[in-house]
This record gives sequence, structure tokens and C-alpha cells, in this order.
Amino acid sequence: KKITIAIDGFSSTGKSTLAKQLAKKLHYIYVDTGAMYRAVTLFAMRAGFVENSKIDKIPLIDSLDAIDLKFVFNADLGFAEMFLNGKNVEKEIRTMPVSKNVSQVAELELVRKKLVGMQQIMGADKGMVMDGRDIGTVVFPDAELKIFMTASPEKRAVRRYKELLDRGEDVKYADILENVQKRDYIDSNRAISPLKKADDAIEFDNSDLGLEDQFQRIYEHALR
Ligand code: C5P
Repeated sequence: KKITIAIDGFSSTGKSTLAKQLAKKLHYIYVDTGAMYRAVTLFAMRAGFVENSKIDKIPLIDSLDAIDLKFVFNADLGFAEMFLNGKNVEKEIRTMPVSKNVSQVAELELVRKKLVGMQQIMGADKGMVMDGRDIGTVVFPDAELKIFMTASPEKRAVRRYKELLDRGEDVKYADILENVQKRDYIDSNRAISPLKKADDAIEFDNSDLGLEDQFQRIYEHALR
């Protein structure tokens, strides 16, 4: 029987790697909700609604209907890429400038309302792995399997640092560590849908656990 799997947790804990692996093995659809918040942030930046990490809220909220988000499956990559108003923005949404502003955009009530609504429609059929910050608490509180991922900030910053270097971005480790910690702080303390472990989520700390071990343990939960 197909189920809904919600994976939440702090930034760069390996949520998306795990979610992609699970989706592949179970033949489920994978949805990266962070990509949606990142795409709205990219839209806001391009429209000139962000200055020094301050979001010009009113024009952004007024523009929400003009932000068209779509996931388009890329068979070569094996996962879906984010399209913003018809253009592939998969690379741009992962860059540091977007990471520096995304948590401020994700605090806005009407942004969350739009994206949560889309996520609930995408996940209406079972057979879905969704990762984010509020999937098990808000988007799918009835998900059959909920995972909450943690890891030390340093481990997470190293992971993100390697990813960005691999993509050819010119980044400093200290900036990334700061960004990871700042986003976790904003995400955990915002008024609406703050990041927290759902009561019925299983917590995984992957600071030390090998990825293969971790995957096996979670996969076994999914089969129960
Ligand atoms: O998962 P990722 O690190 O790409 O998410 C980027 C940001 O988007 C998070 O730091 C958070 O501010 C926001 N987010 C959120 N709710 C989600 C997914 C992401 O607020 N479900």
C-alpha cells in the first residue's frame, strides 16, 4: 500500500538526498518544497523586492498570482527541476544569494499559504516523498511516515560547502556556516509554521551515521 512520507529538519541535513533515494526505490514521486520557497525568493530578487535581505512585502504579496511554479521531471537526472514562469531555475535557486534571503520570504503568511496549498494538491495521491520544514506538522499532518533529520551545524555546513564548490560557486565555508545557522534560527522561530519535530516523527541524527545505514533503516520503516 502506498503511503505519504514527510521528511523535515534543519538545513543541509541530507533530507533531499534521502528523499530522492527513497522515492526512487519505492517508485514514489519526490517533491522538494524548499525549491518552491527558493523560486519565490528568486522572483522577488529579480523584481527588485529585496534589498540587504529586507523583503519589500507588499509588492511581493501583490505579485503572488504572477508567480507560476512548476516541477518538470528530468529523466536524465532522475528528479524534477524547478521552473519559474516557464524557465528552468534549478541552478539559480541553489546559489548563496538566494539562500541568504529565502528564510525571510518563507516567513510571509501568504507565501506559505500559496505554497502549502500547491503542495497539498501535489500530494493528494499517496506514493509521495516530500521534504521541507513543515510537511509532517502542517502540509501532511496525517502522513504515515514522518522523519525529522538533524546533524551538527558544522557537518551540515561542510555538506553544503562541498555541494556549492562542486557546482562551481565561489563560496567561503564561514559564510555557509553562518547562513545555515541563521536560516535554522529564522525557520525555528517564525510565527507561522515554525520548524519543529512533529510529535510522531522519528528523529535521525546523521552527523555520524553512514548514509547507507540510515537509508536502510528508514526504508525498513517505509515498508512496515
Ligand atoms: O530545503 P531548503 O534548504 O532548500 O529550503 C530553503 C528554505 O526554504 C528554508 O531555509 C526555509 O526557510 C524555507 N522552507 C520552508 N518550508 C518548507 C521548505 C523550505 O519554510 N517546507
